[in-house]
Amino acid sequence: MTEAGDQTIVGRGNRDGARLFREWYAQLTESAARDERAAYVFVMGSLSELLRVFDFPIVFPEINSLQTAVRHAAHEYLDEAEDYGYSTDICGYVKADVATQLRGGQLPMATIPKPALAVYTNACNTYIKWAEIWERMYHIPTFTLDVPGTRADGRQTWVGDRDFENDRRYVLAQLRELITLCEKVSGVAFDIDRLRETLDHANGMGRGWRRLLQLNRSRPSVFSALADGTIYLGVANALRGDAAGAKFFADLVEEMEYKAAHGIGTLGDEKYRLVFVGVPCYPIFRRFNELFTEWGGTFVTSTYLWFASGGSNVDFEYDLSRPLESLADGLLLGVRDAMDSMFFQTRILSGMVDDFAADGVVYHPIKSCRTVSTGLADSRRALMAERDVATLFMESDMMDKRVVSEAQLKNRVDAFFEGLATRKATPAAV
Ligand code: SF4
Repeated sequence: MTEAGDQTIVGRGNRDGARLFREWYAQLTESAARDERAAYVFVMGSLSELLRVFDFPIVFPEINSLQTAVRHAAHEYLDEAEDYGYSTDICGYVKADVATQLRGGQLPMATIPKPALAVYTNACNTYIKWAEIWERMYHIPTFTLDVPGTRADGRQTWVGDRDFENDRRYVLAQLRELITLCEKVSGVAFDIDRLRETLDHANGMGRGWRRLLQLNRSRPSVFSALADGTIYLGVANALRGDAAGAKFFADLVEEMEYKAAHGIGTLGDEKYRLVFVGVPCYPIFRRFNELFTEWGGTFVTSTYLWFASGGSNVDFEYDLSRPLESLADGLLLGVRDAMDSMFFQTRILSGMVDDFAADGVVYHPIKSCRTVSTGLADSRRALMAERDVATLFMESDMMDKRVVSEAQLKNRVDAFFEGLATRKATPAAV
């Protein structure tokens, strides 16, 4: 392929992803202007495939909140929610959303519609308390979908297993209740053929997502799991169950296969391959990434690309001949896997180190999110006991710049890379 070919295809995913994201927010703004009511959902088990059947605009408050941080406006929203009475101590995403609601849905990049209902799983306990806020503000129905988690590390059951079948029946019964609620709230009758269509699009997206993750095993890696990965996660959630989302990932795979075939990486000289654990530091997102890239370090994969991908990482496709049952299967597998990537990390991380030939693992616990951060220090110790791999433990936040110290982060990162350089220079003991 020519240099002109490089220019056409390389970087296309980031351009298209940004455009699709802008268009998605523009549509939400139009829905808000028409006073249409939305389904409010979360990334771990959004059920977009089902909610699209009822024509709900779909709002992801977590994504709205992180966008306020990326656009350097989060502190205004946090201050407003704290003045209103919310503690400094709770999830920053919740507080930014409270301020968004107090502002009539206004965000730096869009205006979001008010909710008609909220649908969420138990993947994070904050989801449940968060939805209660909307219940109080708007008097809307809320639906908690209880997904049984994995009973023990490495014990995820699969379709056909007796325990799995029991759990699926439990999830399926809840889905049937949710359908009744959606019909009542939207006035739209459930159409199983429309569900087949959205599941088919989600299947296409999932195939693309899994291939994408796999392609970053190449050397040099073809995308940054931190910087580029956040754009891809946005599309994976916003356009789940939509034809445009499936096409985006098919195109993205084509781009990354091209980059892998031509040895085109994200850095001029990829010196260190890293795994990221946790949620990124959005208040200084670009600078945070540069702290690593300046040393030739790039993130080849992350737990974030697992738990925030809506289950796309799980090697599973919906069976369109039994759509509803299969949706229950996928939900069970995807949400369990998201919970496992937060609560049973050591085995997963150990596998990632091998699969991606990683030099180090960066743990980034954040003040705002206990769900993702609790236990990370223990997880790090367990990984170090099991594997001879360099690790870095650095704390900040994904929303609150009051607890983000760039100078302190830089000190930690610099020391980490100095250690990595020494490790590389020291021949392994024979
Ligand atoms: S506590 Fe963490 S996982 Fe839960 S809603 Fe907040 S940011 Fe998301």
